[in-house]
Formats: sequence, C-alpha cells, structure tokens
Amino acid sequence: METNSLVWFRKGLRIHDNPALDLARRGCKHLYPVFVLDPHYLDPDRSAFSPGSARSGLNRIQFLLESLRDLDTSLRRLGSRLLLLRGEPAPVVCRLLKDWKIGKLCFEFDTEPYGLARDKQVKDFASDCGIDVHSPVSHTLFNPSDIIEKNGGKPPLTYQSFVALAGCPVDPCAMTYSELPPIGETGDYELLSVPKIEDLGYGDISQEELSPFHGGETEALKRLDQVLEDKAWVTNFEKPKGDPSAFLTPATTVLSPYLKFGCLSSRYFYKRLQGIYASVGKHTKPPVSLVGQLLWRDFFYTVAFGTPNFDRMKGNKICKQIPWSENEELLVAWRDGQTGYPWIDAIMIQLKKWGWIHHLARHCVACFLTRGDMFIHWEKGRDVFERLLIDSDWAINNGNWLWLSCSSFFYQYYRIYSPISFGKKYDPSGNYIRHFLPVLKDFPKEYIYEPWTAPLSVQKKANCIIGKDYPRPVVDHENASKECKKKMGEAFASSSSKKQQNHNDSNEIASLKSKRRKKTE
Ligand code: FAD
Repeated sequence: METNSLVWFRKGLRIHDNPALDLARRGCKHLYPVFVLDPHYLDPDRSAFSPGSARSGLNRIQFLLESLRDLDTSLRRLGSRLLLLRGEPAPVVCRLLKDWKIGKLCFEFDTEPYGLARDKQVKDFASDCGIDVHSPVSHTLFNPSDIIEKNGGKPPLTYQSFVALAGCPVDPCAMTYSELPPIGETGDYELLSVPKIEDLGYGDISQEELSPFHGGETEALKRLDQVLEDKAWVTNFEKPKGDPSAFLTPATTVLSPYLKFGCLSSRYFYKRLQGIYASVGKHTKPPVSLVGQLLWRDFFYTVAFGTPNFDRMKGNKICKQIPWSENEELLVAWRDGQTGYPWIDAIMIQLKKWGWIHHLARHCVACFLTRGDMFIHWEKGRDVFERLLIDSDWAINNGNWLWLSCSSFFYQYYRIYSPISFGKKYDPSGNYIRHFLPVLKDFPKEYIYEPWTAPLSVQKKANCIIGKDYPRPVVDHENASKECKKKMGEAFASSSSKKQQNHNDSNEIASLKSKRRKKTE
C-alpha cells in the first residue's frame, strides 16, 4: 500500500548519496522533506563572545542557511520543496508524523550524544504509532557500530587498528532523480522560506568579514570537481606537508564544512579519489593521503561513538587526567588574537573571520593554549573552536583537542610548536600575518614574528607601538614552554604510578581471593 513518507533532514543536506531520501521516496504517495529550524541554534545571543547564537558563531549559521537554500532549490527542481518549520526539532517532528498521517519516517543515523537523544524520542514515538522507521548510516564511510563490534565491543584506539578493521566502504547510492513524489496536504502549519541572516535578528550585528566559503551541495560538488581536477596534486597529497599560511589558495581541500553538514557525501568523495588513484597508478597512501584524511574522520567518529564522556576529561577513560590551570585573562587573550605572538593571533583572527583555518594552524594554536605555553584546559579551546569553526564537528573537534593536548592518542608532550619559528618556515615575509593583523602590516619582515624585539624607531615607522597598538607577549615562550613540559612530565608520571598502583591493587585482591578460596577448600 502506498503511504505518506517523511524524510527528516538534519545533516545530510544533499540529494546525492542520500539513503534516507532514497528510502523515503520509494513506494510512497506523498513525500514530505522536512527541516526544523531550532531557535537555540539560530537566535542571537548577545552575551556570547562573538556574533551568533548560544550554540554557534554567525559564519556557521550563514553556512547552514545557504545549505538549506540550495537544498530547497534542488528539491524544487525535482518537483518537491523543503518544508521548513521552527521549534524544538523532536516534538515538532512527532506532531507532523501524526498530523500528516505519515507511514514511513526516514532520517540519517546521527552518532553524536545530542543527536542520539533527540532521535530516540522521535523513534520511540513513531514506533508506538506503528510508523515504519529507517535510519541508515551515511554521514561516515563506515558504520561505527560495525567497527566496534568487529573489535570485540570496544572502539579501536589507533588509526592503524581502525584501518585494519575498516575494509572498503559501500558505494554511494543514487546521485540524483528525475523527479520526487509530490508533497501532500500540510494543513495549517506555518511553512517558512529559508530566512536570511538579517531575518533572524542579526541585522544590527556587524561582523567585519563573513566566511568566503559558502554552503550548499552545489558549492560542495563544484569545489570537489575543482579540487580533483589537478590529479597530480591529488595523488601527491601528503599531510602534514602543506603550507598553513596559504590563505588565498589553501593548501588542503576546504571540504570539511561540506562534510560536516553533509552537503558532500564522504563515500562519494572517497569513490572519486579511488577513481583518480586507479587512473593514475602511483599515489600517496593513508595516513597521509587524501583517502587517509577521510579515514581519520571515520576513526574519530568511531572512537567518539564508543567512548563514554568523550568530550570531557572527567569520566573519560581514554583521556589523561592533567591538572590544567584556570586563567581567564590568558584564555581571552588567546581567543581574541591578543597574545602578542603574531603567528598565533593571525590564526585566531582568521578563525574568527573565516571560520576555517589550516590543520597545522589548528595544531599551533591548540598546542599554544594547552601543553605548549598557557597550560589551559583543552575543553576551553574546544569550546572556542566549536563556536567559531564552520566545520565544527563534535567527534573530530574533541578527538583532535584530545590529541593536541596530549590527553589521548598522542603523547609526545615535549614536542612543542614554536609560535615564532614554525610560521616563519612557511612564510618568512609574514604575508599571512599582514593580512589578518593589518595593525602589523608595515613591520619589516625581520621583526614581523617578534615585533616586541623591534627598536622603537622601527615601531614608530611601522605606525605600531608594541604595548599600545599591539600587545606585548602575554607569556614568555621560552619559560612558559619549559614550565609546561615540567607539568606534563609530572602529570604523566603520576598517571603511570596510579596505573601501577591500580595494577598492584588488583593483583593483591586477586591473590587474597585465591588464598581465601584455598582455605575454604
Ligand atoms: P583536508 O586535508 O582536505 O582533508 C579532507 C577531509 O578529511 C577533511 O575535510 C576532514 O573531513 C577530514 N580530515 C582531515 N584531517 C582530519 C583530522 N585530523 N581528523 C579528522 N578528520 C580529518 N576537522 C573538522 O572537520 N571539524 C572540526 O571541528 C575540527 N577540529 C579540529 C580541532 C583541532 C585542534 C585540530 C588540530 C584539527 C581539527 N579538525 C577538525 C581536523 C582538520 O584540521 C580539519 O578537518 C581540516 O583542516 C579541514 O580542512 P580540509 O577540508 O581542507 O582538510
């Protein structure tokens, strides 16, 4: 019997390789493509440290709206449209299921704790109503549950063990359709058109510069085509090689925000890469290749899905317990690009303005905040990234902060990025700094990475007095990094002695138990 189907978009904002859409459209009379605008995610929060809502910076909100507009356009081309409603998503969808007499509900499986809790509410409600529910995995290459099961119920904690278990992903499903089933009656629901950023109450909020990267499946596929045009670049791609200071033509694909919102399918991206590898022959391999980057993404998704309290230090079994300091003043200086180290500050300003920074730039600022210089908790840095990145992704962001702070996955805490010489290696003239910190644009290149060392005459000529127009360094890297190494060493020693103690304790308990058993025998 033909039913009414509802496909609920959240991530997965695309037509291509969208199994939830594909399942929903099959054998239905009416297809309702729904997205619910969550006011918590969208409404301005004027108390936040940057323009945006309580949960997201303005750049990512803009990216989402652009993605929705593009999805609506694509659906209209197929004889449908995006049905946009406003409210708390789970209760809104439950109401729609009843009122629109839905027989089949389809949505992409979401592995994040927030998504899992939200989806459980809807799934339980739908099942109670006898609605057929389908929730396929299509945000990642693999199903994290399958990998965990193959690994005996635990997530693999190294990339190598993950890759060994993973195998090959399934092929993407349909890329497009000639048409989609029509929408049925919608009753007296208020169906919105995709709002402009000003419609959401951001009209009077000025953000000097919005991200140059625009949302949507069309943009994603165009960018993918452009990136893959240069086959030699694709086959020689080798991370961490690549210039973090390249901003006009970034050194990596900048496909992360499209993957985050699901404007681009990672399986389709993977398949296109395999096609190029097959046609060219010689190519780089994981972990450094482009396919290797997609596997990193799935690795973090799998560990995050299988690790309770993955997004915090306390209660997280895979996270080293480190006595991080609290220092609001240093945190704010870091967050606002006011540390006095131009390389660090330029990166933080790019993050604020563009919502995207290169992977090694992320390394530098994350190391500086945590184990490199400031010894501030990685969760604080994670929060700032979570707000400002357009590709902000729960599993990947937390996973990389755990990595960079040497709290998990990587433990060479004595390897610290210099806030001076690291950037200089790539960009000796300091063009990146001049672009994102125009206050330093007239500094001679000899001083651009350490402007506090410039004689006053040079500072005057450059129209920038250090300590007045641009801050002096808020920490002394030489001493701060030594102090950090010492504290990290102590934390690591204490965690291994605790481990040893736990080990000894459990051995002692086992031996007492066995003695007692022998006595009673
Ligand atoms: P490319 O090098 O072109 O790689 C292609 C894709 O592979 C990326 O789009 C991304 O989906 C994936 N990928 C690449 N590197 C990684 C990685 N280290 N871990 C997992 N997946 C990866 N990436 C996010 O997508 N969201 C985040 O919130 C995020 N937070 C980060 C926080 C820190 C502290 C660090 C060090 C890294 C973080 N990354 C995050 C990972 C990485 O920096 C970005 O994915 C990458 O820089 C995005 O640019 P790109 O698309 O040009 O990457």
